[in-house]
Amino acid sequence: IKRLAVLTSGGDAPGMNAAIRAIQLTAAACNVEVIGFKHGYNGLFEQEYKTLLGHHVQNIIQRGGTILKSARCPALQTPDGPAQAAATLHQLDIDALIVIGGDGSFRGALKIAKHYQGQIIGVPGTIDNDVDGTDNTIGYATAIDTALDAIDKIRDTADAFERIFLVELMGRHSGYITLSAGIAAGAEQIICPEFGSLSPDDLRSVITPIQHAQLLLGKSSYIIVVAENSYPGGTTALAEALSHAIGIECRACILGHIQRGGSPVGADRILGTKLGAFAVEQLLQGAHLQMAGEINGEAVLYPLSKTGERQKAIDPFLVRWQQQVGSY
Ligand code: ATP
Repeated sequence: IKRLAVLTSGGDAPGMNAAIRAIQLTAAACNVEVIGFKHGYNGLFEQEYKTLLGHHVQNIIQRGGTILKSARCPALQTPDGPAQAAATLHQLDIDALIVIGGDGSFRGALKIAKHYQGQIIGVPGTIDNDVDGTDNTIGYATAIDTALDAIDKIRDTADAFERIFLVELMGRHSGYITLSAGIAAGAEQIICPEFGSLSPDDLRSVITPIQHAQLLLGKSSYIIVVAENSYPGGTTALAEALSHAIGIECRACILGHIQRGGSPVGADRILGTKLGAFAVEQLLQGAHLQMAGEINGEAVLYPLSKTGERQKAIDPFLVRWQQQVGSY
C-alpha cells in the first residue's frame, strides 16, 4: 500500500479526530501517504480531498467533531453511486480506504467494495454504540458524560420546582446512551426501545411507578430518561399525555445535538488512537472488508458485513436491574 484514504461518515462523534491523527501518524511511519476525503462519502463524488500531513493532525486529539467534516451522502445510495465512488478511488491510485462511521457507513463501504479493487476497512465511530464487533464505539463514552452533565443540572431544577422531567437522549434504534446515562444519573425511569414500546392508549407502565414514588417515597424530583422515537409524536407529546393523566406538570427536555459535541473524554481519545492505528497496521497486513474493533481490551478484526446484522444487545444485567427497581 502506497496511498490510503480516510473519511468520516454519518453522525460525527468525539474521538474521530484521534482516529484520523493515529491513521496519519501510523501511515507516515510506514511511508504510506494519506488522503483525507471531506464531508463523508460526498468527498468521493465532489473530488474534495487533501493529503494529510503531520501538521494537519497536530493539536486535534482534544477537539470534538472531525477535521474532515462528516455528512450523510444520498448520492452513494443511488444505483450508480457505489461505482462512481470507486472510480474516484481508482483515479487517485488509492490502494485502501478507511471509513470511520457507524453501521450505515459500513453498508455504504460494502457497496463500494463491489466496484473497487483496493482494500477497505471500517473504524467504528458513532455516539450510539450500536455497532456489533466492538465493545464500544468511538464517541460513546463522551456522549454519556455529556448527557450526564445535562441531566445532573436538570435534576437541580427538577428538585427545586418539584417537577417531573422527561429528558430525551439520542439513539434512534438503540438504548445504549439512554440506559447508561439513565443509570449513571440515577434516573427514576428509563424508556428505551429494548424495554418495549409505549402506546398512547396504555401509559400505565410509566404512570404507576410515578404515583408509587410520590405517594410512598415522597420524591421531590423525578427524572425519566427517554430514548428518541420512543413515543408517537415524540417526548414532548409524552410529557403532555403524562401531565394530563396524572395532573402533575411534566416537562420535556430534548438534549439533541449537544450530545455529539464537546471535547472527547480520555477513553474516546485512547480508543480512537488504538483503532485508527490498528486499522492501518491491519491494512498493511492485507485485511479487507473488516472492521477494527476492541473486545475485552484487545484490538480485533470483525467482518464488516456482520457489523449491522443484528441488534447489539445492551447490558442485560443493567436492563434487568433497572426493570426491577424502576417499578418501586
Ligand atoms: P450514525 O448512526 O452515527 O449516524 P451511520 O454511519 O450509521 O452513523 P447513516 O446515516 O446510517 O450513519 O449512514 C451514513 C452514510 O452511509 C449515508 O449517508 C450513505 O451515504 C451511506 N449509506 C448508509 N446506508 C447505505 C446503503 N444501504 N447503501 C449505500 N450507502 C449507504
